[in-house]
Parts: sequence; structure tokens; C-alpha cells
Amino acid sequence: MSKGLIQTPRGTKDILPEEQKFWFYIFDVVRDAFGIFGAKRIETPIIEFSEIYAKAIGISTDIVDKELFEVKRTSNRALDSEGDENDKIMVLRPEYTAGIARAYLQNGMNTWPQPVKLWYFGPGFRYDRPQAGRYRIFNQFGLEVIGDDSPLTDTASILSAWQILKKLGLEKSILVDINSIGDANCREKIKKKLLDYFQNFLPHLCPDCNRRYVENPLRILDCKNAKCQKIIAGAPQIIDLLCDACKTHFKQLLESLDSLQIPYNLNPRLVRGLDYYTRTVFEIYLKDDTSRQRTLIGGGRYDDLLKLMGGEQTPAVGWAAGVERIIEVIREEGIDVKDIPSSDVCLVQIGEKARKVALSLLVSLENEGFRSSLIIGKESLKGQLRSAGKLGCTISLIIGQRETIDKTIILKDMDNGSQETISQKGLIEVLRKKLK
Ligand code: AMP
Repeated sequence: MSKGLIQTPRGTKDILPEEQKFWFYIFDVVRDAFGIFGAKRIETPIIEFSEIYAKAIGISTDIVDKELFEVKRTSNRALDSEGDENDKIMVLRPEYTAGIARAYLQNGMNTWPQPVKLWYFGPGFRYDRPQAGRYRIFNQFGLEVIGDDSPLTDTASILSAWQILKKLGLEKSILVDINSIGDANCREKIKKKLLDYFQNFLPHLCPDCNRRYVENPLRILDCKNAKCQKIIAGAPQIIDLLCDACKTHFKQLLESLDSLQIPYNLNPRLVRGLDYYTRTVFEIYLKDDTSRQRTLIGGGRYDDLLKLMGGEQTPAVGWAAGVERIIEVIREEGIDVKDIPSSDVCLVQIGEKARKVALSLLVSLENEGFRSSLIIGKESLKGQLRSAGKLGCTISLIIGQRETIDKTIILKDMDNGSQETISQKGLIEVLRKKLK
């Protein structure tokens, strides 16, 4: 890193050409998998009014309390067409679910055949403390299934996440943690029991947990602090406090996961950091990541969110995956991801005349849809062929003085090194056969 040069802001990074093959690979797998699942892609604006996150995720959550990036207008001047929008705070989206719930309501998706299945892929922004696997700009892909309350929809949703990680080659490295955190019917009872239990331990809980005790005691269960964990170990288990309807929902979900042979781990402490979840919550993480620092996927059911945002009561379930973390794992596990071919055909030329011929051949090749590159520079034949090799060309076309006079071309197979001379006229035909 040179001193004095402007760097990327903390917690952000460039995605260089060398890494792009992983992004194309993941995007292709994700698009195909969601296509098979019957979900449609949605894109929502990167900026939204902060109120949707305050309503959806909860004011007391870390995301809303500490991690939102506010968008500052360069002018306070009220623009005629914006009206009262100027008074509203806009933020960069920290996640997708709240924006998609807004889009569902705004676009009248309740009149579409239910459930509506939507998938997404794109950046999210959180003013997190940067650390391994935690960025301030990160990318997520995910799924929301809105308009159905059956436990089988939870199963289908978890299955889709599992299938994608499996198709990416990660099946053997992952585990699903699952829990139910109840609904409006039993949540108060659960909270009360937890408050009663933790009350005696308040002086021994960390400051964050003391805050959670007041704002949302369920979230104490999620604390990673070693001292708190010891106390949490003795806390009442949410599953024992669920109402009958929530218990039945959870039981049916687990049974269907069993029948699909998706291995999962019942984690009675899993609550997740967002307030909008009801009933099912789940995370998919790496088996050897005991400290849960690098969860790959998080999700759950959010039956009250759409009502909270001004719509009808509409049950829904969804999940989000972190692309950067998945790429890190794919690299660590050495999963073979094909390079993006930059060129199939490279044109190598010696002399001015040959270069002119090569240039016009380049145009014809591109018109015919061949990925082609003209090797430029005054390098020797050997040097040019080396460059062609680095570009990953399958075939090099060599044009020297003789070939310009004979109207021929030397075709070199870059894999086995064999060469043949063919007429320039017949070139396209030959390439079509060789590169089909
Ligand atoms: P969450 O909405 O926090 O449950 O996030 C869902 C998934 O997105 C996580 O399991 C991570 O894979 C990913 N993710 C969330 N926050 C970040 C971040 N700051 N940096 C990188 N990935 C993240």
C-alpha cells in the first residue's frame, strides 16, 4: 500500500477481475436454482426511508440503532417535486426483507397468486465494526415467500437455501441451526419467563445484555460473551414455552426436514438479531465455525411484518445469504471454479502488413461471435504467443509476411502445440468446427 494514495473506505473492498469468476459462478447457480423453485427476481432501491427499518427490524436492534448509513442530501433546499420527502431520513438498505415487504404492499402483490416468491442478489450496507467476514458493503442473495403460513413453506424455503449451498459444492461443510421463537400469542409469556430468570443475574450480565433486558430479553440468549453464556445455559428454553399452534407448526417443520434428510441442529438459544421474526428462525453455518463468526445464511418466518408496515396480516418466510463469506469458503475449500474465458482466439502478427490483415480479421471474428484478441506490442513471435497463452486462448492465429502474400494463416492449437496452415477465406469455417 503506497502512502498518500487514497484508499477504499474501511470495511469496503474492490472486487478485482481475478475474483469475478466466483461472482459469475454463484450468480449462475443462484439464478438457476430460484428459477427451478419458481421464484421471480426483484430489485428494490438501494436507498429507502429509514422508517421502514425502524418499523420492521426494530429500533433497539444493532442494525437500526448503530449500523444504518444515512444518505445526506447535498442541498437542504426543498425541491418543488419532492414536497415533504425532504423531511424524511433516507438510508442505504442494511438488508432486503423490509424493502421487499414495502414493495409487496406498494405494488399490490397481494392480488397476485399467493404465495409470491421473490429472490434478490445485490449489495447491502451496514456500519458494522469491520472484521473477518464482516464488511460495510457486502452482497446478499436471498428469497422471500410471502402469503403462506404452512410449515411446509418454511421447509421449502430452508430446502432452497440448502440446495444452493449444495450446488455450490458446500454440502459437506454446512449445518442448519433451527429454533422457534413463538408468535404474538406466546411471546409475552416467553418474555416474562426470561425476565424473571435473568432478573437475578443482572449485575453479572454484560452492559449489552442489561440493555437487551429492557428492550428485548429474547436477544440475551444470542449473546456471545462467555460470562453471559454461563448464565444463559440455565435459562428457560423457548420451545417449552411455545403455545400449541406454534408447537405444532415447529413439529411439522422438523418432521418434513427429517423426511427430506436435511441434517439440522435444534438450537434453543437461536433468536437472531432482528425483531421481525415469528416462529421459525434458522441459520446455516460452517460445521467447524464453533464461534458462529461466519454464518453463511440467516432467515426465518415473519408473519407480522407486513401488518406492522401498514398492510393486511400476511404470513411470510425468507432467508439471506452473504456472498463474500460464501466466496471465502469456496476458496478455502479449494472448490474448482472455472475461469471466465477471456478470449478463444488470439491474433499474432509479424510486421505492419500482417497487422493490417489481423485487424480486419479481428472484426470478422467478432462479428461471427468469436471471443478474440489482437496481441498488441512489438513483441517477438514467442513473446506474443506467451501473451496469448496468458489470455487463455484456445487457438492462436499467426500471420507473417508470407501469409499476407499467400492469403493464408497459421492456426496453432494452444493446448497441444500443433500447427496447420489454412486459407484466410476458410478461417471462420475451420474455427467453427474447432471451437464448437
Ligand atoms: P443477517 O441479515 O444479519 O442475518 O445476514 C444474513 C447473512 O448476510 C449473514 O449470514 C452473512 O452471511 C451476511 N452478512 C450480514 N452482514 C454482513 C456483513 N457485515 N459482511 C458480510 N456479510 C454479512
